[in-house]
Amino acid sequence: MRQQLVIVGAGPRGTGVLERIAANAPGLYSGPGLDIHLVDPHPPGGGRVWRQAQSPLLWMNSHAEDVTMFTDDTVTMAGPVREGPTLHEWAGLDGRTFADRQVQGRYLRWVYERALAELPPNITVHHHPRRALRVGGPREGRQQVWLEGRPRPLLADLVILAVGHLDAELDPGQAELAAYAERHGLVHLPPDFTADSDLTALKPGEPVLVRGFGLAFVDLMVLLTEGRGGRYDGETYVPSGREPVLYVGSRRGVPYHSKIGYDWTGERPPLPRFLGPAETDALLARPGGFDFRRDVWPLIEKELGFAHYHRLFTAHPGRTRMAWADFEEKYAAAGDPAETEALVATAVPDPADRLDLTALDHPLDGVRYASHEDFQHGLRSHIEADLHRRHDPGHSADLSVFLGLLSVYGQLVRLGSIGSWWHGFFSYLASGPPGPRLRQMLALSRAGLLRFVGAGMTVTAEDGVFRATSPTVPDFTVEARALVEARLPEPTVGRTRDSLLRELHADGAAATPEGLLRVDPGDGRILDRAGRPHPRRFALGPYTDVRTPGAFTRPRTGGPAFRQNDATAREVLAFLSASPVKEPAR
Ligand SMILES: Cc1cc2nc3c(=O)[nH]c(=O)nc-3n(C[C@H](O)[C@H](O)[C@H](O)COP(=O)(O)OP(=O)(O)OC[C@H]3O[C@@H](n4cnc5c(N)ncnc54)[C@H](O)[C@@H]3O)c2cc1C
Repeated sequence: MRQQLVIVGAGPRGTGVLERIAANAPGLYSGPGLDIHLVDPHPPGGGRVWRQAQSPLLWMNSHAEDVTMFTDDTVTMAGPVREGPTLHEWAGLDGRTFADRQVQGRYLRWVYERALAELPPNITVHHHPRRALRVGGPREGRQQVWLEGRPRPLLADLVILAVGHLDAELDPGQAELAAYAERHGLVHLPPDFTADSDLTALKPGEPVLVRGFGLAFVDLMVLLTEGRGGRYDGETYVPSGREPVLYVGSRRGVPYHSKIGYDWTGERPPLPRFLGPAETDALLARPGGFDFRRDVWPLIEKELGFAHYHRLFTAHPGRTRMAWADFEEKYAAAGDPAETEALVATAVPDPADRLDLTALDHPLDGVRYASHEDFQHGLRSHIEADLHRRHDPGHSADLSVFLGLLSVYGQLVRLGSIGSWWHGFFSYLASGPPGPRLRQMLALSRAGLLRFVGAGMTVTAEDGVFRATSPTVPDFTVEARALVEARLPEPTVGRTRDSLLRELHADGAAATPEGLLRVDPGDGRILDRAGRPHPRRFALGPYTDVRTPGAFTRPRTGGPAFRQNDATAREVLAFLSASPVKEPAR
């Protein structure tokens, strides 16, 4: 009798696991034959985020050359390397293109089909275009996976969940705003996947408050401008007349930093240096555990500073006043931030060449504008300066910091869950919008269709309207009948809208305090509250506490997600090869 594996979620992660099953099965699988049931209401390959059925105006925010679904010899894993093209090689694009999401979806579909073609003949994949509702079954026996609209469950020897980005139930604050909107005939769009939101309630010419200035905002901006028939004529936006007027603000009040627009040349910073395996081991071994701000952040600061100054001193020595060897020795010896600051003040004359992470993180802190119009000019200048700097190789120390951020990210994965602050900081500096999107922002601002509210934006619901203010422009208040929360939902396992994970949690699966599903960092087995791995259930992806970088893997960077996919695929194949097939549980 054939064996059964159910994989829930057929987006990039589910596809990646399938690729690893195909790579490992010929050497590892010796069972009687295997049916893989791939469950996802969206088409396999792209899944929900990268499906074909979405606006062609939405782009990736990665360069096409930085996206691969294939392993190479930098990935430390037990399974075989199967090389394959990056997105730009596959699609015949310039490596620095920001491909649209439909193109990426076609690449993912091709990866999926290639994996199917490479499976041995005794392994067959069946796609079920449905939602999985619940997983049941005993620890030691066959699992049951209940699908929407199907009276009998799928029976499974093993289950892998790769359910990716999830929708969340509204938290109390959001629920209150939604109820207020309902009572007063206002529009409130809670955190959501912008591509899936119905934006028709946002009317032409009307002011709309938007909370959030990251990538979800960029999607929203695109869909409400070009998506409504507007177009760009060079640096000028030509409206269609169907656009609302967006009033955007956030905690920082500024958009994410532009993607860097030049390539690395020359010697790379020797990373990790101050935050590597030895330091993460020491953090993990601390008897009382570690505190992010007290114990981890100083190491991050030191590492990013090292990356920055290494590049400045080696590539732009004319802007420094000390030999690199001297600086490096003193930098390593500096015991606290004040000492480092004094060293930098002596060795780096231009403040623009010094790394100040706090100022970078909150550029509007303490900044006040006398009028809303002044602030519009001020923020346009801020964006122009950022665009200029991020496209100027004279500031290649910024690219070195970017490499430092990637290195740090890779190290922090080992620490397990460290809270969401770091992820936000990383995204703001390292995962911002493509330069052309910021140029569009400038054009929309000049056209008066995009208005900046400021930092620390607060929104109140009073007198039948939404009202926004910000300390950046103390005398300015804007009222609107529509409020959009431009950010992805942040579900906890207990508050996801998806019954599958909620029930798994209620049924004993453990979660971290921030609501991530706890899994074994080795093979992805789901842990119960006693820390016991479930023999037959695995989970991979952003809702688990083994948070590999959320983005696609860049070629030749070791790919922690690939390593994990490989470990899970091998464990699954070895388990099935060793298990005698039992009669299904009825
Ligand atoms: C809007 C958006 C844009 C992004 N852009 C980029 C980018 O430009 N570059 C980059 O590197 N990264 C980007 N990312 C990061 C993203 O994490 C990855 O690109 C990738 O989509 C993650 O893959 P995944 O398979 O883990 O999750 P998902 O892509 O979310 O796939 C999970 C799949 O599981 C299915 N599913 C969920 N629950 C169930 C259920 N109960 N039953 C059946 N099926 C279910 C869903 O339908 C979905 O198809 C973006 C993420 C988002 C949300």
